[in-house]
Amino acid sequence: MTPFDPDLDTMTRPTTVAPGEVADFQRLIANPLLAVMALLGVWVLFRYSLESRNLALFLATLFAAAVCPLLIQYHCLDCGRTDLALRSRAHACAAVVHRRRADEDAPFFPPTLRSQVKAWALTSVLAGLLYAIFRHHS
Ligand SMILES: [Zn+2]
Repeated sequence: MTPFDPDLDTMTRPTTVAPGEVADFQRLIANPLLAVMALLGVWVLFRYSLESRNLALFLATLFAAAVCPLLIQYHCLDCGRTDLALRSRAHACAAVVHRRRADEDAPFFPPTLRSQVKAWALTSVLAGLLYAIFRHHS
């Protein structure tokens, strides 16, 4: 069994809320800062591995880059908790459970964590493309 966690405690009550079901009632903000910082570090090491023709480092950076998205975090607007976005679906603090029990409509704001992460990813790709284009032309 998992150790006691006050945030998950509500899920062990008779009115059990399965992970995923609460997702519609959460108010979470995605925070990709940690993942972006890690990616920048990976990018520096990646460039270095190419310059120094270090295959082991090259492969290690590829692996690290694949792991970086896992570092995306979320902040709960209700209880202020910060945790990895991976675990966000299990987050059911008092406010979230209350909203679900009251069967309120899904909060209009913010958008789901998944949409926010997609928006961040899209923005990063566009920024990267623009950077590449402008650098090419100057
Ligand atoms: Zn919360």
